[in-house]
Amino acid sequence: MPHASLDAALGPALTARRAQSLYRQRRTLASPQGPEVVVDGRHLVGFCSNDYLGLANHPDVIKAFRAGADDLGVGSGASHLVCGHSREHHALEEELAAFCGRERALLFSTGYMANLGTVTALVGKGDGIFEDRLNHASLLDAGLLSGARFQRFSHNDPEHLERRLAGSDARRRLVAVDGVFSMDGDCAPLVDLARVANAHDGWLMVDDAHGFGCLGERGAGTLDAQGVAEAQVPIYMATLGKALGTAGAFVAGSEALIETLIQFARSYIYTTALPPAVAAATRASLRLVQEEAWRRTELNERIAQFRDGARALGLTLMDSRTAVQPVLIGDDRRALALASALEQKGYWVVAIRPPTVPKGSARLRVTLSASHSRAQVAGLLSALADSLHEFASVEAP
Ligand SMILES: *Cc1c(COP(=O)(O)O)cnc(C)c1O
Repeated sequence: MPHASLDAALGPALTARRAQSLYRQRRTLASPQGPEVVVDGRHLVGFCSNDYLGLANHPDVIKAFRAGADDLGVGSGASHLVCGHSREHHALEEELAAFCGRERALLFSTGYMANLGTVTALVGKGDGIFEDRLNHASLLDAGLLSGARFQRFSHNDPEHLERRLAGSDARRRLVAVDGVFSMDGDCAPLVDLARVANAHDGWLMVDDAHGFGCLGERGAGTLDAQGVAEAQVPIYMATLGKALGTAGAFVAGSEALIETLIQFARSYIYTTALPPAVAAATRASLRLVQEEAWRRTELNERIAQFRDGARALGLTLMDSRTAVQPVLIGDDRRALALASALEQKGYWVVAIRPPTVPKGSARLRVTLSASHSRAQVAGLLSALADSLHEFASVEAP
């Protein structure tokens, strides 16, 4: 039922968003994630999921999910602190802690909630939170919600962070960054950030949503890849819905950190635990991450192939060696038009526009996966070349 007063109040912002080419629309998938997907009834080669290792539809992961549901049912029934903490959740936490080389790990239902709960449990009024300005929205929101004094520093600029910290009289100082920036694909300079944070009694937290599983020889993430010791980054967070192909997130760190989160992280305490079968499936993914290093090799080969090909086409790439390979377009309408031209040719790439990225920096966010074939990447490159060509001639006077 339409509601006159509510709908009238909401209308103008929707109209404005449409007029600015910023309107968002959902597409409906009728297939598992994978290199080929069925979207609104059409078969497309997808280059927009975060299933970087091709585990979201892996038979071992599905089997573990099924077995988990057979053993433990579907719903967890309650939050972890009431009666929803199952043996599968517990075993996964222990395996994640061991894999990350940390005392403990704590599962959250989503990455958004992990960030919200962790930041707000660690800092509040009288404290300082320092964030890279390109951090993921969940970290930025967490900082705002915490009530701590929120200071942003320039992207990947440890010197700017140092000036911020030096000028701060905050009681506690939490420095939070993405390990791999989600819309740019570049990595935080963790060695320098850790040095600066530690010199000013700041605690460094890394959100490794796009690094965990993909980076480092063992797939242990950005710290592993950059040779950063655990002690330099006392708070490590990563998500399970990307490279691990399932859902949820975790924070890993010391006994004191994890116990603090169990006691004080509101988004941990006041929400239903993930279905235990999701934890069971994630345990299978975590084994594949460790046993099948070839997935990272394949992924890195596709990344190199895409970058070489895109450079040859004269495209503007970003400073990224990760699976996130945005092609910078600039104008919102042009980015949308290119995405729709690619779709005509059978390739699904999403145009990312403000406010997700800064104004004037709309981009085609291409994401690669170990499950893409060389031929599929080559096909995307040639579709990109054709689409750019079409638009060049359309726009010529
Ligand atoms: C995806 C993402 C999150 C949120 O994780 P969800 O599990 O999807 O809620 C947090 N941080 C970063 C950097 C992300 O890319």
